[in-house]
Amino acid sequence: MHDDVPVLIVGGSLVGLSTSLFLASHGVRSLTVERHPGTAIHPRAAMFNQRTIEVYRNVGLEAEILEASRLEFEQDGAIVSVESLGGRELEYYFRNVNEGYEPLSPSPRLFITQIGLEPILRRHADELGARLEYSTELMSLDQDADGVTALVRNRDSGAERTVRASYVVAADGTRSPVRERLGIPLLGHPSFSNSITIYFRANVKPLVGDRNLSVVYVFGPTLQGFFRFSLAGDAGFLVVNTTTNADGERNRDLWADMGEGRCVEYVREALGAPDLAVEIENVQQWNACAQWAERFQDGRIFLAGDAAHTMPPTGGFGGNTGVADAHNLAWKLACVLDGRAGAGLLDTYDPERRPVGELTVEQAYTRYVLRLDPELGKEDIQPFVPDPPIELGHRYRSSAVIAEGDDDGSICENPHEPTGRPGTRAAHVAVDGRSTLDLFGRGFVVLSAAEPWCAAARGAGIDAHRIEAPGFAEAYGTGTEGAVLVRPDGFIAWRAREARPDRERELSSALARVLSR
Ligand SMILES: Cc1cc2nc3c(=O)[nH]c(=O)nc-3n(C[C@H](O)[C@H](O)[C@H](O)COP(=O)(O)OP(=O)(O)OC[C@H]3O[C@@H](n4cnc5c(N)ncnc54)[C@H](O)[C@@H]3O)c2cc1C
Repeated sequence: MHDDVPVLIVGGSLVGLSTSLFLASHGVRSLTVERHPGTAIHPRAAMFNQRTIEVYRNVGLEAEILEASRLEFEQDGAIVSVESLGGRELEYYFRNVNEGYEPLSPSPRLFITQIGLEPILRRHADELGARLEYSTELMSLDQDADGVTALVRNRDSGAERTVRASYVVAADGTRSPVRERLGIPLLGHPSFSNSITIYFRANVKPLVGDRNLSVVYVFGPTLQGFFRFSLAGDAGFLVVNTTTNADGERNRDLWADMGEGRCVEYVREALGAPDLAVEIENVQQWNACAQWAERFQDGRIFLAGDAAHTMPPTGGFGGNTGVADAHNLAWKLACVLDGRAGAGLLDTYDPERRPVGELTVEQAYTRYVLRLDPELGKEDIQPFVPDPPIELGHRYRSSAVIAEGDDDGSICENPHEPTGRPGTRAAHVAVDGRSTLDLFGRGFVVLSAAEPWCAAARGAGIDAHRIEAPGFAEAYGTGTEGAVLVRPDGFIAWRAREARPDRERELSSALARVLSR
């Protein structure tokens, strides 16, 4: 049997599902193959940043995700470091993860597990016509000048078939068989801990008390890792990254003893409750490393999510970065597949996403060293960058951005002080009870306070919105006479800071350049 599809997605977890959802929202057919029989069975990612919720908002899912998140967590909690849950508090990284973040976005940072989120993504992708095949494994793939031929196998029946796709997105996780097959090396910090995650049941309510704790780092004298707890306070997981013996020596290999008795000891120790009844439900082993792929693209094949960058959970960046990859790639694939753009547009994925991936991996590593394992060496880490620039302040440079002259080379900027520079995320400004962000998502959009720019945009076949709301001209750097051209992913492609003589021609030519036409 032979199957033709514009885009084949390998891996149907968080990033594969997001890719299929975003492609479907642009009207692109895709087939996702996932070797597991269904969506996530382990919670893993839970902290989703404003950018991630914004892009799900863009495809109409925010309300449903917010509702589902409340079933799992009390929102707006703290991220704290303790010696043990019942013991001394060391440092609050956040008292409330949303405090001070409200002006940045109409969407909150929120906690929902992959178990809660993935079925929502799957259902909506499915409703929009995306094909998702579980218990189906990619066996091999080969690309030629016109497409990619993949061999896939149903793991239940053993039946094999070939799939012919114009493009492949490899969202096949940290060990990415596709990346390996392409021979793309990893850069960064290889394995620094054979970590474990212990899923347990125990009554932690008396130890939590009246605190609203989203993430609890444990930096005890003998154990280093972190907790998350269930809403009811009757279960949770403990990640153990390292232990320290009486001589102060670090043990970074927790795989050597994952027996149930040992795991009960770990949980009791980290809770600071030596006699508490603890039932171990499951123990997972995983490797902490902080690495990114040397290339995110090989011809018609793109790496996204953990396949492109793997980082420790410190900071809660891994899944979010993968969702941003998917969002960056989806509109580009859509434009190329329907002929609006030249194939060169796809070559902007790597230069836009790889520097962001590298920055984010390094920042997750910096947080890991500072919060959990300083002995890895503070001299080997990048200076700490606060969360907002990492989550919302990306600055892209590629042929899909028409840069201005004043480039200081920074990979991110502070979203509390938006500049409107081409290559940055178009800022949230409240407009008639909505957000400027609600104007983005499908095609290109021109925003301007000046009607002549809007008229010129419409003449050039581009949607336009005249924005007279307070704060717009400052946040976008357009003044009252300029305009911005915003890409379907909500990033600014081009800007004029003043009135120009031939606006329609200027906009048409900017769009053609950005689309590699
Ligand atoms: C304890 C923990 C806590 C975390 N907390 C956070 C957090 O708070 N916030 C955050 O953003 N991130 C967090 N992360 C990271 C986050 O879980 C990952 O970044 C995210 O799951 C990556 O998603 P992915 O889809 O790229 O890869 P994966 O989830 O690894 O999925 C890859 C999929 O590809 C499939 N696959 C592989 N090979 C094939 C093949 N040949 N054929 C078919 N299918 C294949 C696999 O079965 C798998 O389902 C955490 C991680 C851990 C371990």
